[in-house]
Amino acid sequence: CGIVGVTGGVGAPSALDVVLGGLRRLEYRGYDSAGVALVADDALHVTKRSGKLARLVDAVTAAETLEAVPAYSSRTGIGHTRWATHGAPTDENAHPHLSEDGQVALIHNGIIENFAPLRAELTEAGVTLLSETDSEVVAHLLARRLADGGTDLAGAMRDVVQRLEGAFTLLAVWRGQPDVVVGARRSSPLVVGVGDTATYLGSDVAAFIDHTKEAVELGEDQVVEVRPDGFTITDFAGAPVQGKPYTVTWDA
Ligand code: GLU
Repeated sequence: CGIVGVTGGVGAPSALDVVLGGLRRLEYRGYDSAGVALVADDALHVTKRSGKLARLVDAVTAAETLEAVPAYSSRTGIGHTRWATHGAPTDENAHPHLSEDGQVALIHNGIIENFAPLRAELTEAGVTLLSETDSEVVAHLLARRLADGGTDLAGAMRDVVQRLEGAFTLLAVWRGQPDVVVGARRSSPLVVGVGDTATYLGSDVAAFIDHTKEAVELGEDQVVEVRPDGFTITDFAGAPVQGKPYTVTWDA
């Protein structure tokens, strides 16, 4: 339903603050669950809860949770508010979904129409799926592609999206490139936000409007890699694409 991503360098705001602030801005769309994945200390920290955003905030900021300490130093993360289409609104079905090897975290807006054969293929290959969503397959497909000699997340994303049918905005982070967030879209919106010390992604500009008004809209069937100092857009085949830059004119 709602998607936010950020990756920042020195002087950038805490990814946790950016993601939670973005999710709050996206609450107007409605949702039944929310979750975040943060890259910190070279590991992925996923926290997700069904229900109101406040439940997620309590979980991720609770002093006694292990997540809380590295979470605040993280400059790279993704967050999601879910409006369930496949699988009940439970903690397990909330996004992000982690790959079995803990290397990839993935969030998804939309519907993967061919999830059933993909789930069957993964189960056959020995993967244990932890949720009932159509989305989780993408986390495993990305991780398997990367484990199989893949060296960059954007390349793995281009390979995987070619296997998907339906409508999607996808964001992923990978331990192998800890300051990169990769997005992809088909028939579902995705916008890049260009800041001074960080680069943002959102399902709409509300996700990052508190940080920058410089936006670049992705077109149909495109993949974007964002880094603290910039971004690269390609089509699904890997050919470079020029995004459409514009300045958001409404006041937050
Ligand atoms: N189809 C996915 C799910 O049910 C994503 C729904 C959404 O867009 O929030 O988990």
